[in-house]
Amino acid sequence: MCGIVGYIGDQQAYPILIRGLHRLEYRGYDSAGVSLISEKGDLNIYKAKGKVAALEESCKSQDLTGTIGIAHTRWATHGEPNQVNAHPHYSESRNLALVHNGIIENYKSLRTQLEEYGMTFASETDTEVLVQLIEYVKKDHNCDLFTAVQLALNYVVGAYAIAILEKDHPDQLVCARKGSPLVIGVSKKADGRTEFFLGSDATPIVEYTNQVVYLQDGEIAIMDRTGRLEIVDLKSTPQTPKMATLQLNLDQIEKGGFPHFMLKEIWEQPNALRNCIRGRINPANKDIILTGVLDHKERFLNCRRIIICACGTSWHSALIGKYFIEEACQIPVEVEYASEFRYRNPVILPDDIVIAVSQSGETADTLAAIELAKEKGAFLYGICNVIGSSIPRATDSGTYLHVGPEIGVASTKAFTGQVITLSMLGLAIAKVRKSLSDEMYHMLVEELYKIPDKMQWTLENNKDIDKFAERFTYCKNFLYLGRGYNYPVALEGALKLKEISYIHAEGYPAAEMKHGPIALVDAEMPVVVIAPKRGMYDKIVSNIQEIKSRGGKIISVVTEGDVTVKGMSDYTFTIPDTRDCYVPLLAVIPLQLLSYYVAVTKGCNVDQPRNLAKSVTVE
Ligand code: GLU
Repeated sequence: MCGIVGYIGDQQAYPILIRGLHRLEYRGYDSAGVSLISEKGDLNIYKAKGKVAALEESCKSQDLTGTIGIAHTRWATHGEPNQVNAHPHYSESRNLALVHNGIIENYKSLRTQLEEYGMTFASETDTEVLVQLIEYVKKDHNCDLFTAVQLALNYVVGAYAIAILEKDHPDQLVCARKGSPLVIGVSKKADGRTEFFLGSDATPIVEYTNQVVYLQDGEIAIMDRTGRLEIVDLKSTPQTPKMATLQLNLDQIEKGGFPHFMLKEIWEQPNALRNCIRGRINPANKDIILTGVLDHKERFLNCRRIIICACGTSWHSALIGKYFIEEACQIPVEVEYASEFRYRNPVILPDDIVIAVSQSGETADTLAAIELAKEKGAFLYGICNVIGSSIPRATDSGTYLHVGPEIGVASTKAFTGQVITLSMLGLAIAKVRKSLSDEMYHMLVEELYKIPDKMQWTLENNKDIDKFAERFTYCKNFLYLGRGYNYPVALEGALKLKEISYIHAEGYPAAEMKHGPIALVDAEMPVVVIAPKRGMYDKIVSNIQEIKSRGGKIISVVTEGDVTVKGMSDYTFTIPDTRDCYVPLLAVIPLQLLSYYVAVTKGCNVDQPRNLAKSVTVE
């Protein structure tokens, strides 16, 4: 959600900042802006509503010189998305420019106070309060910017990542974070010169350096042209910058010949999942090695309940995880929307394990949910994709997905990565607790290992979805039905369609359809049914019959070789046979492709759907 880019060095900053903003576009935004200290010494700000391309267009004839700058893509929380509210924001004297990601919760009282001191505000944002406050504190204490930021942030309640320029000091860049991510890239040249790059994540930085410092919550940093990088906490105690090496390369964040990141990421799934299970599934002895579990065996042995907290697509994979873990480990598992859990005083016991599932590792509600669970003494386990992000740092143990960066806003490979990781977790816990027979355990491990190849088959055999997607672009509603493990797949299929094609869709447990949604079924309403030739096949055949007799159009996902459901369906997608518990990993693929092609045919921007953000770093 939102993006910050910054640069200080000896190159022209503007092209680096714009490139960086483009790299961050996937996070979702509604306006963009840039600030530079020009060669003449002016502190310039240029902003535009809409896309980064609109910003570029609008500042074509402006002074774009300068070797220091900050830039921003805004996802409005306070004040409508327009040019005035876009970042950067000036301080009253126009000596400071600031960009901000997050929400300042006490901005109203701060603003009232600053107005009483005579300061005036140009925008409706919470952000402008920050830059005015910093300027006020700076004057009041007659101190430098770095000190003023430290003092000012002690008055601030809320979440922020900020970067600030000072007109009179074009040699330094100051930034800070609490609750919103910020990464500093450091590039040291052979001749001793140093350049610094700032990013909300590493994507704007990776083409310049792989040496980074992940700023920690409550830290404030100053960088200058001499190579100085100084970090302090909110009490002004110096902190040692911890240098890390990025495990990300440029190819991974580019489209690689695909028209959209989403399609690239759908096709990447077999390899992404191979990377996910590499070193964790040993096919020779049909065993799972998850150090996150093995290092804390006692906790898993003694645990009496698991609570999984997640949002959006991650909540759907969590639901599949619940079905799997309950079946394989016989431990009760609850799945919670993190945004609800964090505010409702839930019962959390010391022998509970709380699992947080989040692609970005920065989802604000999920982070808050595990902080609450930590206070109540639960053991915390993180399942995230972005290495070094906040949730893995806040948890006691965990497993990274290792599926590579996911840029498309509609999650695809992170979803299947989460499902396969939760399956591995379930098997690893089952082994510790001896809840499965050896025979069953080895068989499930062996079958899980085959899933990436079966995904490849599924992709190859459903390529032509694009040929009939057009027929559904006129639809106003879709219904998705599944039973057992495939109920969460129905939810996920419906969410994918809503997110990127703006067609209303609902996922339902197939048997629940009779309790309401069946009233909606008519010849205009496509009903997608996940109907593998497994456990509840006969029951789902009856459900299809019920829809057919009301004139509904059936799109089914069936097992290779199926004739019955295929014969009843208007359109069929085929997947290879696998165990019930792994069907979601295959069945979701045609649903991803269906939503992708319907959205593309409708002319929607699939990688940047309206109003959506990739990582939801505000609550
Ligand atoms: N709360 C700020 C605003 O509405 C920042 C939003 C963002 O993170 O982009 O301007």
